[in-house]
Amino acid sequence: MKDTIDLGKKRDDAFITEVEAHSGQKFSTCYQCGNCTAGCPAGFAYDRQVNQIMRGVQLGLRDKVLNSRSIWMCLSCSTCSLRCPNNIDVATVMETLRHMARKEKRVAVPKVEKFWFSFLDTVRAFGRSWEIGTMALYMLRSLRVFTDLDLAPEALKKQKLPFKPHSIPDGGAAAVTRIFKRYRERAKREGVRP
Ligand code: SF4
Ligand code: SF4
Repeated sequence: MKDTIDLGKKRDDAFITEVEAHSGQKFSTCYQCGNCTAGCPAGFAYDRQVNQIMRGVQLGLRDKVLNSRSIWMCLSCSTCSLRCPNNIDVATVMETLRHMARKEKRVAVPKVEKFWFSFLDTVRAFGRSWEIGTMALYMLRSLRVFTDLDLAPEALKKQKLPFKPHSIPDGGAAAVTRIFKRYRERAKREGVRP
C-alpha cells in the first residue's frame, strides 16, 4: 500500500448502497482476514490491496475506491472469491467498481480500457476474438507500437497468432454483431457509456 485510507473522509452511504445493489454482495460481513489479498496474483500491481478496497467500500470512500488503479489491474480470476471465508464474491465487487468508475469517467488506467475496446472490436466484427487484430488495434490506440513485440515470434511458432480471423459457422458472427448493436441501442437509451 502506497498511502493510507483517510478514515476522516465523509462516509458516502449512497456509494455503499450502490455497490451492494449492483454487485448483489453483502460485503458488510468482510472482517478483513486478508485471504483475498494473500491469493491475488495481481496484487503486485495494485495501489491498494483487494482487502483494502473492500474496507474502502464498507467505509463509503467513493473517491478512494473509484480512483484506485487496482480495480483496473484486476484480472477477474476469482481467486479472491474462492478464498473468502464469508462467501463474498469479491471479484464481482471489483467488476462492479470498474463499471461504476467508468460510468463516472474515472479510468485510472486508460491502457486497460483501450485494450478492452480493441478486444471487443474484434469480437463485434468477427464473432470471436482475433488475437492479431486485437494487438494491432491496441497498438494504434495506445501508441505502444513495440509492446511485447519480442513475444511475437514464439507465439507465431505455436500458432497462437493466426493471420486470419477465426470463422464461425451458421451466421454466428452476424448474430454476435446484432447483440452488440442491441447493447449499444440500449446504452444510448439509458444514457450509459457503451
Ligand atoms: S479477481 Fe482480481 S482481485 Fe480477485 S484475486 Fe483475481 S486479480 Fe485479485
Ligand atoms: S477474504 Fe473475504 S472476509 Fe477476508 S478480507 Fe477478503 S473479502 Fe474480507
